Amino acid sequence: MSGYGVFSVAGGAPRIGWRDGDEVVDLSALGAIYAQPSLNALMALGPTAWGESLARARVHDGPRVPLGAATLQLPFEVADYVDFYSSLEHATNMGRLFRPDADPLLPNWRWLPVGYHGRAGTVVVSGTGVRRPRGQLKLPDSDAPVYAPSRRLDIELELGFVVGVPSPLGEPVPAERFADHVFGVVLVNDWSARDIQAWEYVPLGPFLGKSFQTSISAWVTPLALLEARRVEAPQQEPPVLAHLAAGRDWALDIDLEVELNGEVISRGNARTLYWTMPQQLAHATSNGASLRTGDLMASGTISGPDPGSEGSLIELTHNTSFLDDGDEVVLRGKAGELELGEVRGRVLPAV
Ligand code: MN
Repeated sequence: MSGYGVFSVAGGAPRIGWRDGDEVVDLSALGAIYAQPSLNALMALGPTAWGESLARARVHDGPRVPLGAATLQLPFEVADYVDFYSSLEHATNMGRLFRPDADPLLPNWRWLPVGYHGRAGTVVVSGTGVRRPRGQLKLPDSDAPVYAPSRRLDIELELGFVVGVPSPLGEPVPAERFADHVFGVVLVNDWSARDIQAWEYVPLGPFLGKSFQTSISAWVTPLALLEARRVEAPQQEPPVLAHLAAGRDWALDIDLEVELNGEVISRGNARTLYWTMPQQLAHATSNGASLRTGDLMASGTISGPDPGSEGSLIELTHNTSFLDDGDEVVLRGKAGELELGEVRGRVLPAV
């Protein structure tokens, strides 16, 4: 396990640390940029500085804190948050559930990575409890909705990337420039209230069914550490438009797991995603929208082709079983010897 995070120890100011196994190496002696309560200033520096930083962080002989003695914080200030829908299997499974009589994929799906803008201010660090949200639910035996606690609270297993280097307004960022802008990756749990979502999402997409909370790992894995895990993404058919065609060599061979109350209930791999991270970035900026340091872009639920590799309960249980109060979910990712930071969260009862 390695990666950058922000931690504090009793009475001390938050600072940047490097996770090394079960310890956190305090990097604050390396310079003022490491004595800050977020990774944003480091992330804004760009690939040359990131390479130097990584080389220093991994051998730094700073004070070591046992993980149990460190309070972990959100590792970066989230600027904008985008969530995609890039797994072919997930989109197909959801289409079958919600539109059983139609083609499960809508006509645009193979032409662009479908996504929506989420709520940056409710992204929280792993370990934060998730309060069961209230919202409008339209129960099947009623003509009018009620305002009540969600009965269908779900998880979404996702991989997110975080932007370091911003881009100017009006200038698309091509997929080939992905590694010039993107600092690293985190695991993401996009908690989803399926009943709120089902009633509200037409025609503008997810809103309150997802914005109540999104959890990310406390540790950001630098892109450079994943270089050896890059593989070719699955074939795209039909071929996509030229401005989205590059970056197909950026699928990541990362084994993924969902654990519910101590039991592994799903195993998959991020390499099955139909749209890659560079394609997502290229699409998100293809209209000239600028990037900001701290922008978080998540893949969408990662579901594989095999039973038991689905990244949400609605798929794993065929829409029959969801989270109970007190349930604890942990998402894990492993790229060979390299472990990503886990995402842990326990369901708290509605207030
Ligand atoms: Mn999602």
